[in-house]
Amino acid sequence: MDTNVMIAIVAIVVIAALLLIGGWWFGKSRKDAVTKSTEAAKAKADERLAQEEAANAPSGEQTKTEAEVPPAAPVQEPAPAPAVEVPESAGSRIQRLKAKLAKSGNPFGKVLFNILAKDHLSESDWEDVEDTLLLADVGAEASEQLVEELRNDARISGQSDPAEVRKALRDKLLKLVGTDTDRRLNANKEGANKPSVIIMVGVNGTGKTTTAGKLSRLFVADGKRVMMGAADTFRAAAADQLETWGAKVGVPVVRSDKDGADPASVAFEASEQAKEAHADVLIIDTAGRLQNKANLMDELGKIRRVTEKNLPVDEVLLVLDATTGQNGMAQAKVFAEAIGITGVVLSKLDGSAKGGIVISVQKELGVPVKLVGLGEGPDDLAPFDPEGFVDGILA
Ligand code: GDP
Repeated sequence: MDTNVMIAIVAIVVIAALLLIGGWWFGKSRKDAVTKSTEAAKAKADERLAQEEAANAPSGEQTKTEAEVPPAAPVQEPAPAPAVEVPESAGSRIQRLKAKLAKSGNPFGKVLFNILAKDHLSESDWEDVEDTLLLADVGAEASEQLVEELRNDARISGQSDPAEVRKALRDKLLKLVGTDTDRRLNANKEGANKPSVIIMVGVNGTGKTTTAGKLSRLFVADGKRVMMGAADTFRAAAADQLETWGAKVGVPVVRSDKDGADPASVAFEASEQAKEAHADVLIIDTAGRLQNKANLMDELGKIRRVTEKNLPVDEVLLVLDATTGQNGMAQAKVFAEAIGITGVVLSKLDGSAKGGIVISVQKELGVPVKLVGLGEGPDDLAPFDPEGFVDGILA
């Protein structure tokens, strides 16, 4: 090969190699420059962000806390508590309730009045008296006995002056109802336990929850600290209903958040809280399912037992709906056997001509009627007053 050609080839190769090396070096330095400027820009942006955060945040500590804690829900003004009503005085309530009872259009009183307004009582008049007593739910045995005694008295005295008979009937009814019976609630007796525990029992719909609310109000009016326990967990609305009463009368209510919770656990919790809070009275509302006696016994027995782990039970009040008359008696007996009762509340006496149930209920259950319900209002509960009651039904 010609020397000149050789030199030319070598020169081309060298130039090509120089061009390649130059291109690589130029590319690399451009890339480095871009990377460096990106990093610088990023660093600058970070710095600016940090400066902005520092300017906005009151302190570095708080910024950290705020980042960890989810944003708080907007603070809402608490709903105003319903106004607690001031209870009516006991004296005025009893007067009002007596008047209400007398005006309740009781056919018992009216029919008796018509019979006893006669000059002389015939055989059929005596039968009418007995029928009227029966219709008024005095009970077959007691009605028969009453009329028998009245007739005997008339026979012995040789006269059946209706005015005398009327007076004798009043005395006998009073005797049957019982004027000397101690009708005070155990919580109101000297040396009563603190907290005193009252368990409300009875068939659903008789007025247990309403009576628990009204009863709380009576205790509140006496200056007592009261708590209620919603152990009727069977109906979801029952605890709400008790809570509504609690808000109305200013009494806290212990309840479960779960529907169908164990009623005994609510009773336990309520008795524990009443003890801790040094309450004077705890009223426990229960469910009155009567699907069968064994279940009822189980449930009420358990409620009683677990409550007694914390506090002695002073009173078990059976709420009996006066409008159910003698039909309610069979149910009442089941409750009396299931838990043992210390007193009866006769509810709905305002809408009933069957006040005579007072006599049979006491006779059959062997416990006194302690309170009567005469309406749905918070003050429509009164201690049972035998004289007012008998005068009310004879008026
Ligand atoms: P529970 O299922 O035994 O707790 O019964 P509630 O307390 O829910 O009462 C059942 C219904 O009877 C309600 O509508 C009460 O307002 C009503 N009630 C309760 N006591 C009386 C009362 O003395 N007189 C009248 N007229 N209604 C009453």
